[in-house]
Amino acid sequence: MSETVERHEFGAEVGRLLDLVVHALYSDREIFLRELVANSADAMDRRRFEALTQEAYALPADAKVRIAPDKAARTLTLSDAGIGMTKAELAQNLGTIARSGTRAFSQSLGDAKPEDKPSLIGQFGVGFYSAFMVADRVTVTSRRAGSDEAWTWASEGQGSYTLEPATRSEPGTDIVLHLKEDADEYLESYRLDHVVRKWADHITVPIAIVGEEGKEENANQGTALWRKSKSEVTEEQYTEFYRHVGMNFDKPYATLHWRAEGALEFTALLFVPGMKPFQAVEGERGSKVRLHVRRMFITDEAELLPTWLRFVQGVVDTEDLPLNVSREMLQATPVLTKIRRAVTGRVLSELTNRAKDAEGYTPFWENFGSVLKEGIYEDHERRAEIAPLLRFHSSAIDGWTSLPGYMSRMKDGQEAIYYLVADDADALKKSPQLEGFRARGVEVLLLSDHVDAFWPEALGRFDDKPLRSVTQGSVDLSKFAAEGESGEAPVASDALVAALKAALSADVSDVRTTDRLVDSAVVLSASGSGPDLQMQRLLRRAGRGGGSLPVLEINLRHPLIRALSTRADSQGDIADEAGTLLDLARVQDGDTPRDPVAFAQKVAAALAAGA
Ligand code: ADP
Repeated sequence: MSETVERHEFGAEVGRLLDLVVHALYSDREIFLRELVANSADAMDRRRFEALTQEAYALPADAKVRIAPDKAARTLTLSDAGIGMTKAELAQNLGTIARSGTRAFSQSLGDAKPEDKPSLIGQFGVGFYSAFMVADRVTVTSRRAGSDEAWTWASEGQGSYTLEPATRSEPGTDIVLHLKEDADEYLESYRLDHVVRKWADHITVPIAIVGEEGKEENANQGTALWRKSKSEVTEEQYTEFYRHVGMNFDKPYATLHWRAEGALEFTALLFVPGMKPFQAVEGERGSKVRLHVRRMFITDEAELLPTWLRFVQGVVDTEDLPLNVSREMLQATPVLTKIRRAVTGRVLSELTNRAKDAEGYTPFWENFGSVLKEGIYEDHERRAEIAPLLRFHSSAIDGWTSLPGYMSRMKDGQEAIYYLVADDADALKKSPQLEGFRARGVEVLLLSDHVDAFWPEALGRFDDKPLRSVTQGSVDLSKFAAEGESGEAPVASDALVAALKAALSADVSDVRTTDRLVDSAVVLSASGSGPDLQMQRLLRRAGRGGGSLPVLEINLRHPLIRALSTRADSQGDIADEAGTLLDLARVQDGDTPRDPVAFAQKVAAALAAGA
């Protein structure tokens, strides 16, 4: 056999090019697969084209690009049923390169930003060499359609290649990559699948990953489904595509598929997932909706939707950008700004529509409501559209309510939409802050999402009613009659209030009587119009100061307050009790006493005295 092996030197240009490709693009090396798959798909398209006039060239029915990892041999083989290459074509296409091409390529590489480098190799027609980023030896066995001969081209990418006769039963090409030590990841089917999905989804030729037992898994959709008209696509196809773009395994909650024509031309196929994806949407910023230009995948980082709609997945494909669009252009072009606006409006109107079915909307809300709420403070323009989509727990009902729902239950004369924010939903329901509201039948929205401390202030009001935190400023509930309130007149309190103020002057800004409590003796509120208690808590945790001092509100009907009042009248000094009272109020809100040990000792002493 060996006497039939011909050794050829690469031109000096190829050697330099190999070096450039392998080193300059190392961090993006997964794109070797995009390049090789694209070559195979092109070869199959060419064969299909030639078959129009040469029947013998017709592609077999199951023609595919097959990608087969072999862990034992540490090889990755790509096989296609394409047009193939003759011996001369192998030498020409894989062994030489136009001098001018290399120079232009190396020049551009030098000038390019790192993130733009991967697109260069495709543009300069040097994609095949990217195989040497992951392989230290590459063999290409090919048989040209219309020929009986097959040849194997082989190289270690080091200055020379060999050509020798081979056998191949059908026309087409096999490329065998002997993987480098550090390229093991390309022996894993899931990794290959991921790369193909990411880069080759627009390719219309089917691409299969061949598993351990020879089982073939299709990795690309094969057709740009979004380009079809709605009537041509079945629900199953939508679902399959949805699973494939987002790595989901459920069904979409909403499927939006439309074509914009006129001033702006694009096709969009978007999905609102039916479940929360495993990669939590909370931390990850930025929409991953994919941008295609005339079917070609460009990027999934074009931020086609605002961050508060980042749970939406899918594809936008436009005619209005050039194929070789650069990153700078993506950032600057008004085309994308217009597409963004159109797509955002469409998603919001779909959600508005779907929200009419309260039961169907609940799972969506539970999955993505906390993300949607961010839109209230991030997007002034859309605020009014988002607000009616919000859902809440409340002190008055089980399940979820909307702002219009709340408003329909407001008491006559009620001037504000009341809400209470805390970290934990269970604590909210029991909060003493709610006692007076409950007793008077005034509903309070209960908010416990991490974003809830921020958006109500940004929204300000809904319709004509302001949103008000029940922990902020003094709330006058006197105009609403409380159920079962005893007729007993509250005890006089002047001496008590004065004594408490004196004792707590370092810790509270004011002490006042309140009608918002029923069972509890005391409660804290934020003074005036500054941040409410939860916001102050967050600011403190973030090391940004604690805001202003809180107000201590006391319940004159409570036995403890009455007892203290008597004591204040008779002895004047109640400094010790005042401190404990403040700590009680803090503990009720889930905060720690100022001095937990002293507080515990006092409680223990009180229990002992009572025992
Ligand atoms: P480009 O594809 O941009 O021209 P490449 O370096 O990737 O540059 O490939 C060089 C040439 O080799 C291709 O233009 C094509 O003619 C040929 N080629 C590569 N892979 C295949 C294949 N799988 N089947 C047939 N021809 C191929």
